[in-house]
Amino acid sequence: MKKSDTGEIKRRILSEIKKTEKRIVEYRKLTEPESPDCAVDTVLRAEAQNTGNINKTALKISEEKSKALKYMLSEVGKEDFGLCKRCNAPVPLQRLLAVPQSPFCVKCTSV
Ligand SMILES: [Zn+2]
Repeated sequence: MKKSDTGEIKRRILSEIKKTEKRIVEYRKLTEPESPDCAVDTVLRAEAQNTGNINKTALKISEEKSKALKYMLSEVGKEDFGLCKRCNAPVPLQRLLAVPQSPFCVKCTSV
């Protein structure tokens, strides 16, 4: 892999981590327990709980993404970076930039 490519991917991962961490902070705020008078109506309460669950799932996904991104960041620059972790085929630069948290090629991801 070219040095300039590595730099580009690194920048991409870092900006994605920043975005993801920001989202995590927002979701954490959203999943904090609300005061009881916020949802007096049963329907409203159920709705609030639903939204809460969606936010909790979103929080979990974002946390996992952040972890994966940090792992990828630690891999950038290594000799085998850019090779699929499963089949060892080179992952195209465009894919690395599009899905920087994935260490697999398209074929292995869709399996
Ligand atoms: Zn693969």
